Amino acid sequence: MSGGIQYYYSTVAPRPRSGKVTTSAREVTQIGIAYAVLTFDLVLIFAGGTFLSGAPATGLFQGFTVGWAALAATAAFTGFVAHELAHKIVAERRGYWAEFRMWPSGLLLSLLMSFIGFLWGAPGATMVGGMPETNRADWGRTSVAGPLTNVAFGLAFLGAGLAAFRLASSLALPLLYLGWINGWFGTFNLIPVGPLDGRKVVRWSVGLWAAAIVFTGAVTVVSLLAVFSFETFGTPFHYFALAGR
Ligand SMILES: [Zn+2]
Repeated sequence: MSGGIQYYYSTVAPRPRSGKVTTSAREVTQIGIAYAVLTFDLVLIFAGGTFLSGAPATGLFQGFTVGWAALAATAAFTGFVAHELAHKIVAERRGYWAEFRMWPSGLLLSLLMSFIGFLWGAPGATMVGGMPETNRADWGRTSVAGPLTNVAFGLAFLGAGLAAFRLASSLALPLLYLGWINGWFGTFNLIPVGPLDGRKVVRWSVGLWAAAIVFTGAVTVVSLLAVFSFETFGTPFHYFALAGR
């Protein structure tokens, strides 16, 4: 992971674009594969928790339900696919070439780690061609778009989860989970190290980077507290009610 900034550059010769968003069969195939693997990873993590914990003869998918699979697919779509598309759209609107490319070794690592319950390994990245490394503003805007997409989804899911709870809907907990996952993906990607988005955002503007990570971090913490509170006390508002005393 040396030279994190450079890894975004594509070896594909960048073709001049006129701000149009385009794609290719190669990009659609690769983001489709990465999406499928990430969804499968999340199914393993959500449903396979008993795999290595010594539960008797439960089998890997003992906890598998269509509900968990739908949750995994929604989390991977909003947390990962929409995040990558946001990088792509911002870069292409500014006249650059940008396409997603998967990293087979990162996907394989994520699969192996999922068997022991961790989401780890990079599925790939949106490659940008033709953007000068000295253009900090364009790199910053392109990079911050991904985490901001996560925080938008995170807030929407958090709000929907709280509303679902008020309406006594069984969707409340899955929606709160989706808020938490999106918040976490956004916050993690804003860490300003290595190839992560945060490094390119902080290089552009420390103030905007700080505002973005505080905002995504807040969505993550509030969603996580709501999930814990729901699972422990049967209401997502327990901690907030305590804090209001
Ligand atoms: Zn990103």
